[in-house]
Formats: sequence, structure tokens, C-alpha cells
Amino acid sequence: MKAVKTHVGRCDTCGEPAAYAQLLPGGRSFRFCEQHASLLVKKQAAVASESGKDESKK
Ligand SMILES: [Zn+2]
Repeated sequence: MKAVKTHVGRCDTCGEPAAYAQLLPGGRSFRFCEQHASLLVKKQAAVASESGKDESKK
């Protein structure tokens, strides 16, 4: 499972602006606001953003 922070789209559950996207095989994704993102999605997104920072430093 892969998840990232996003500012695009809206939460699939409540329609609020999305804060996280969970990426699925086949190019699909689920989107979640802060309230509806699971702990796992938030953790994965944090890991993804940390590794992105490392790459931009190199
Ligand atoms: Zn929501």
C-alpha cells in the first residue's frame, strides 16, 4: 500500500478537500481528508514525504 499527501481532489467519504491519497494498483486512488484518513495512510504519506525530501537534497 502506498499513500501520499495531496491537495488535489476531495475526500471520498465526506467530500471535503482531500489531504491524503491512497494509491491503488491500476492507477486508481482513494482520497481522504484529515478526518477520514486512516492511521496507516497518514504513516505511509509521512514516509513518502520524508523520502522525497531526501531525494531533493541529493
Ligand atoms: Zn472526509
